[in-house]
Parts: sequence; C-alpha cells; structure tokens
Amino acid sequence: MSLPLLDSFVAALREVVGREYVRSDASSLTTYGQDALLQPCPPDLVVFPSNTAEVSRIAALCNEQRVPLVVRGAGTGYTGGAVPTAGGVVLSMERLNRILEIDQENLLAVVEPNVITADLQRAVERVGLFYPPDPASLEQSSLGGNVAECAGGPRAFKYGTTKRYVLALEAVLANGEVVRTGSKAVKNVVGYDLTQLLVGSEGTLAIITKITLRLVPKPPDRATVAAAFATIKDAVDAVTALIERRAVPAAIELIDEESLVAAALHSGVQVAPPGAKALLIVECDGIPAAVQDELSLVVRACETAGVMSVRRASSEADRAELWAVRRQISLALRATGLLKLNHDVVVPRGRVPQLYDAVEELRQQFGLRIAAFGHAGDGNIHVNLMVDRKNPDELSRAKAAERALFERVLALEGSISGEHGIGYAKKPYIAMELSDEVLALMRRVKTAFDPNNILNPGKIFP
Ligand SMILES: Cc1cc2nc3c(=O)[nH]c(=O)nc-3n(C[C@H](O)[C@H](O)[C@H](O)COP(=O)(O)OP(=O)(O)OC[C@H]3O[C@@H](n4cnc5c(N)ncnc54)[C@H](O)[C@@H]3O)c2cc1C
Repeated sequence: MSLPLLDSFVAALREVVGREYVRSDASSLTTYGQDALLQPCPPDLVVFPSNTAEVSRIAALCNEQRVPLVVRGAGTGYTGGAVPTAGGVVLSMERLNRILEIDQENLLAVVEPNVITADLQRAVERVGLFYPPDPASLEQSSLGGNVAECAGGPRAFKYGTTKRYVLALEAVLANGEVVRTGSKAVKNVVGYDLTQLLVGSEGTLAIITKITLRLVPKPPDRATVAAAFATIKDAVDAVTALIERRAVPAAIELIDEESLVAAALHSGVQVAPPGAKALLIVECDGIPAAVQDELSLVVRACETAGVMSVRRASSEADRAELWAVRRQISLALRATGLLKLNHDVVVPRGRVPQLYDAVEELRQQFGLRIAAFGHAGDGNIHVNLMVDRKNPDELSRAKAAERALFERVLALEGSISGEHGIGYAKKPYIAMELSDEVLALMRRVKTAFDPNNILNPGKIFP
C-alpha cells in the first residue's frame, strides 16, 4: 500500500476538480476498488476529472508525490486492470463521456474515453456508419477501456479488434504532459506508431483522454443463424469446414453444453433444441445477395459436420434475443454460484479442434467442470474453470489446471490472452509466453513513459 496521502496533496486535487469530485467515502472506495474480476482492493481516493487539463494536473500532482494513479473506465475488465492494488488514486474517467464528432465525410468519430461502446455504435448507425468492435460487455464498457485492453468481440472474425479502428489518440503522460499521436488520415508512417503502442497498454503508459476511431459503412443486410450439434466435436468440425470453404461471416460463436445449460437457467430462454450439446451462432452481413450466398455456405458447412438443426433468426427481436443470451453467458456461469476462473486463451484459427481436445483432457486429468465458449472463428475461446470455492482440493486442482491450460495453448502457438489483457490476475503467467529479453524491453518502454512507476503499478509485469 502507498503511504497515507498528505493533506496538502488532497487539497490540491480538490482545487483541480472541485471538492465534490474528490471522494473518500466508504461506498466510493468499495465501488471504485473493483472490476469484473471481483477481487476488490480499495484506493485511498477517487477523483473525477472533467477534461484533459484536469487530468494533466492530477497526473503531475501524483507524479510529484509518487502516488499510484489507476485509470478507470467502466470497471468491466476481467483481469483486475482497474483495481488499485497499490492504493493511491483511482482516476475515474466517467465525466469524459461525450461523442465529440461523427465525421461522415472522413468516416471517423472523435470521442472522449468514457463513451459507452454501444452508445457510439447506435449513434454512428443512425447515419449509416458502423463501429464493429463488439465486446459482450458493450452496453457497459467504455471506449477508453476498450482501447486500453484492445477489446475484441464476436465480430472480430471479419472486422478485427479495437486496434484496427484507432487512428489517433490524445493522452496524458505520467508527468502531466499532453501528447497527440496518429492523425485523422488512414495512413500515417511518421515515426514510431505510438498510437498502437498505447492500444492494449492497460493504463500503464498513459491516460487516454481523446480517441479518433475509424468507421466503416453500415452493412445493409445481415442474417443470423443458430446451428445446433449433438457433440462439441461436430460443432468444432463445422467451424473448420466454414474456414475451409473460405466463408467470412461477421461472427462465428461457439457455445458448449456447460455454457448452454447455465445460459438457459439464467435467462429462461432455450436457444438450443433438446439434445443439443453445442450451438454455433453465425452472423453474415453485407449486401443482400452476398449475405444469401454466404448463408448457403454456412448451412452447407454445418451440414457436412452433421448439424442437428439450423434456425435462422426470423426477426430483429429474435436475433437480439439470441445475442443477448450469448452475451450473458459469463454472467450466467457466475450465477451458478461456482467460482469462475476465466481464461480468454487464443490459438491459431485452425487449431480450435486441438484446443477443445486439450480442454477435454484437462477435465479428465483434473476432475474439473469446464465451460468453454466464445469466438471460435478467431480461435479465441473463453475457458472457464468452474470451481467450488469451499473445496480447497478442487481449488488447488484448478490452479494446476490453469498452468496446464496455458502450456497447451502455447504449444499450439497461441497466446494466454486474446482480449482481456494481463492486469494483475495473469501476471504470474506472462513469463510463460514472453522471453526475458522481451519482458526487459517492455519494462524499458514502461520506464520511458513513466519513470516513477505511478501509472497502474503492479500490473502486467511479474
Ligand atoms: C460480461 C462481460 C463480458 C465481456 N466480454 C468481453 C468481450 O467479448 N471482449 C473483450 O475484449 N472483453 C470483454 N470483457 C472485458 C471488458 O469488458 C473489456 O476488457 C473492456 O474493454 C473493459 O472496458 P472498461 O471501460 O470496463 O475498462 P476498465 O475495466 O475500467 O479498465 C480496463 C483497463 O483499461 C485501463 N483504462 C481504462 N480507461 C483508460 C483510459 N482512458 N486511459 C488509459 N487506460 C485506461 C484501466 O486502467 C485498466 O487497466 C467482458 C467483461 C464482462 C464483465
């Protein structure tokens, strides 16, 4: 923990943002001391700036006093990134929540960091544009948090993750300096690409205060199907068949039996027919003729894998219900009351079958319940070890299974995190993937940005 904050420091913060925007009441410290990892650690203070100049002055004050400064978006992160594990100040960006510009001529939007992802999507869709990144948390997560974690989502299969859409950033450095990286042009090779360096930097390098995002035209048509399979292997085979047929749907999501059962219990909606042990949700978008062609490819690929049934969403409400159930799987698994150790591992696309084989082996070897669902088209599967938290033996088997999972994923030339980042939850494992030399280089980058290590200390690096 950090040392007690000086009264003069707190007074200076109050002067910057106003007394009501510096909080230390118990309820604020609890609320802003946790994220979706649900392992709280309260800060000393929560500060709510309203503009870049205030952020800059707060950073400079923290830097002078060596006070940890943890930026927070919406607090939906899964790896404890926004949790102030070293105490200090949580900088809540929630007042910086305006869409500043939707530039229809140049196909871009300029936003403050705490615009909610789905709010931007709705705003740009009203003028025929499209912002594809769609984390399942899109109704809660902030664009700043999405950039800082390089969020993905179902549509990443066709459209890529957040990094593909970030053109330029305004950011405040640890010492309070304000920098602007990138530009509104879609091409820019002047100097190092600091914009992309900040994408995925988890609040450890700078505080993002303005984001310029690339947009694309809104696809005029889309069709969504739910394909049910009698075994997980058949569903995985269908994904392989889809990729072999060179189909490029917007999304290919795979839900296994454990997740289907939890989702049905939680939502009260049965999206899979009786007897189904796996479900694929596939969405195609584009011009109507292309959507129809792609849909035929999808159905044929599912048939070659022995699909039980293919149901096309009959209306927008039907489609929305399907996606709502998919997006709530995480919450549904939590609602089982079991401890959910969530790992968003990713393997090269063609190796999803081997990943599911590995998950089955782990189930047998460690005697654990495992729910494995997610972005099958990307090879990015959320592997959730479901553990009885009151059973110490099961907990220790789960810990061993985590490491075994990462070993298998790395042997498949994958990565231990596709979209949730490292935060502090995954830092014990980062050296399994990155060499000493790479980690040392990353530490030198961190030191160049933040020599006093005030920005999100204790994150990423073991
Ligand atoms: C139900 C559920 C479903 C999810 N589904 C997905 C999914 O499909 N895909 C996916 O990628 N993720 C998913 N997530 C994880 C999470 O929503 C994403 O990581 C999201 O991008 C976090 O955004 P946030 O605003 O909540 O960030 P926070 O949790 O507040 O912060 C995350 C990290 O970003 C840093 N940060 C936040 N704002 C800034 C800023 N302005 N400048 C610098 N650093 C900043 C923080 O310091 C922290 O390290 C899911 C989470 C939940 C709870």
